[in-house]
Amino acid sequence: MTEARSLAIRVRGRVQGVGFRPTVWRLARDLGLAGDVLNDADGVLIRVAGKAEAIDALIGRLRREPPPLARIDAIETQAIAPFAADDFRVADSLPGLTQTEVAPDAVACAACAAEVGDPFARRFRYPFTNCTHCGPRFSIVHGIPYDRAATTMAPFALCPACRSEYDDPADRRFHAEPIACHACGPRARLIRLDGRAVHFEQYSMLDEVDAVCTLLQRGEIVAIKGLGGYHLACDATRGDVVAALRERKRRDAKPFALMARDIGIIRRFAEVDATAEALLRSPAGPIVLLPATGPARLPDAVAPGLGLLGFMLPTTPLHHLILKRMDRPVVMTSGNLSSEPQVTDEAGLRAHLTGIAGFALVHDRAIANRIDDSVVRVIDGAPRVLRRARGYAPAAFALPPGFEGAPPVLALGGELKATFCLARGAEAVLSQHMGDLEDAATDDDYRRNLALYETLYDHAPRVIAVDRHPDYISAKYGRARAARDGLALVEVQHHHAHVAACLAENRRPLAAPPVLGIVADGLGYGGDDTLWGGEFLLADYRGYRRLGTMKPVAMPGNAMASREPWRNLYAHLMAEIGWPGFAMNCRDLPLYEFLAEKPRATFDAMIRDGRFAPRASSCGRLFDAVAAALDLCRERQSYEGQAAMQLEAIVDREALADEGDDLAYPFALPRLGGSGLPYIEPWAMWQALLGDLVLATPPAVIAARFHRGLANAMVAMAVQLRGDPAAALFDTVVLSGGCFQNATLFTLVARGLERAGFTLLSHREVPANDGGLALGQAVIALAATAGAGPCASAFPAAS
Ligand SMILES: [Zn+2]
Ligand SMILES: [Zn+2]
Ligand SMILES: [Zn+2]
Repeated sequence: MTEARSLAIRVRGRVQGVGFRPTVWRLARDLGLAGDVLNDADGVLIRVAGKAEAIDALIGRLRREPPPLARIDAIETQAIAPFAADDFRVADSLPGLTQTEVAPDAVACAACAAEVGDPFARRFRYPFTNCTHCGPRFSIVHGIPYDRAATTMAPFALCPACRSEYDDPADRRFHAEPIACHACGPRARLIRLDGRAVHFEQYSMLDEVDAVCTLLQRGEIVAIKGLGGYHLACDATRGDVVAALRERKRRDAKPFALMARDIGIIRRFAEVDATAEALLRSPAGPIVLLPATGPARLPDAVAPGLGLLGFMLPTTPLHHLILKRMDRPVVMTSGNLSSEPQVTDEAGLRAHLTGIAGFALVHDRAIANRIDDSVVRVIDGAPRVLRRARGYAPAAFALPPGFEGAPPVLALGGELKATFCLARGAEAVLSQHMGDLEDAATDDDYRRNLALYETLYDHAPRVIAVDRHPDYISAKYGRARAARDGLALVEVQHHHAHVAACLAENRRPLAAPPVLGIVADGLGYGGDDTLWGGEFLLADYRGYRRLGTMKPVAMPGNAMASREPWRNLYAHLMAEIGWPGFAMNCRDLPLYEFLAEKPRATFDAMIRDGRFAPRASSCGRLFDAVAAALDLCRERQSYEGQAAMQLEAIVDREALADEGDDLAYPFALPRLGGSGLPYIEPWAMWQALLGDLVLATPPAVIAARFHRGLANAMVAMAVQLRGDPAAALFDTVVLSGGCFQNATLFTLVARGLERAGFTLLSHREVPANDGGLALGQAVIALAATAGAGPCASAFPAAS
């Protein structure tokens, strides 16, 4: 016998709009408890009366079996005055409720997918089936609070059958805002983009959605309206069709994403381990990059030269229905032209995709917010988000201890892989990935999204954080806005932001001692107004000190050097060896001929002069140079990171695992003249690499030796810095920057650091690339404006 108790239970986290109240209702009734549950501004509040052990059981079960889309940050309890109630009910939300979190879209759950396939169910073959545990959220919302009237489902009035599901706490559709059915909801329609009429009966005895499958099987390219935008789909096993899509989309080499009906089909083409399978099946339903080592092969045009395939499972019931008869993977790439944003409406479809797709599957549920597919890769055993969009954004991050009560901050991110971040109180919201701001349409999208987020979150910033770069579009916008509205402006060094993003993601407290941040990156504006990119920073949220770097090497032609890998190769070879030495040892290599035909005198003058060949300590450009030496996209790369990704793709796995460490290419760690900063010097690496080229060593082995050598050098630098009496002691190392999306480099460095006794922090939910910068900028700005506090930084004036 236990005594009866009355208790208030407060649950914080993502607990609204995800079916939390009905779950509490069901569990409480199971356990014979009385009371009520409601939403308020702090989350969910439960009041229960009953046996103490039943109340304990309720809390235990909420922790163990919360609704699939919920995230519990805290459960707190408090004894309250005994009250009488004879049952348990779901109470209305309190007025004045501020919705603090908009849930991300979630892929169709198993129950909804099964229902759509069940001929006896009311929603048999209904493409817009969803419930509280799945379906659109962020992509359809345009206002607060999140209820149907503030979504693009507003024009569709619930029929009586749907209404009774919506009102019933025992139903899995209780308060699921976007629910609908054949009778009352949106409809899909097949159209021809050449304007002619289409009779779906020609392609299917079932319906217009099923007709799409026949079209794909016949080699057609079809535009399909997905959750966050249009996709272009075609049969991925048909090399001619994939090549046609590539040509029409004007996409040279960037890999296409794939969708398959089930894991079994994916396994024919790629290796799917348990971690990858769980990711593919997760509610976020991202594109997962998988090793293309299955028994069957897809045409090279799907992902040229990469050895990785980006697969996702069906996202919505619409996709399940299209792929039901499709025993092959389909390409499912964003519906856009090269770098432009994804098309979201019929006007855009007709304007931009008419020359690409022959048919389109459209429907009348509008997309309020464009959102791309997310991309995740399993690196060193953990899922790591590379592009954070559908299914992840705009989930909030709980800020680390020490940031409580922070003022509203808006951080504007970088220039490539643009995102922004709203932070306030104890949480930060990082926007979805929007692409590169150099593109005018992306810039428009960025501004529109910014306005939307500020509305959705009722966010009026007091502080603006931007990158220090003088020319980033996002930074210019932020400076102008701070000046216009009289807001405080914090300019954040690029690589410091990378480190801080990783610290925040790992919830390292504001008062924690500094870490060593190893940032292996492309390019960022340095603290000394030169270009940085491979940095060793002693850092906390409040500041940083540059302890080490990679060798600064000229980038002839500035931005051109990022596009044409051979330019970096030439600059490296001239910096290390010079033309006479290179000619003497390498005259017989095709590489020599290639470089000899370039206008070397012009380049030499450019490098000497420096104005159009700034020096950069970039890790990414070193990868470009080595890739070019091995003739991997030597002349030109058609997307950012292509050369480095191809270099990783060819790494000989046996050489990587089995060769003696003496074969890993050597780097030295001397000090720069002037600043005296230790740096990673690649002279000996180039000597060894060119020697291997002369000996006709396979490029795959060279790639392995380079990765191992560079990883060894990074670890050696960390060890040396730890022992340097001039440096503050640190025992924790942060790995960030775009180059750490390279699984081989990441794993080698991580193993080496662990062997050397360091604790490691790395990215999981926040991209290591510039997609994570905004979060780092936000926490740095918060730390800077939080006042001195009890934990003054080791870096009063960062440089
Ligand atoms: Zn569902
Ligand atoms: Zn209905
Ligand atoms: Zn960066």
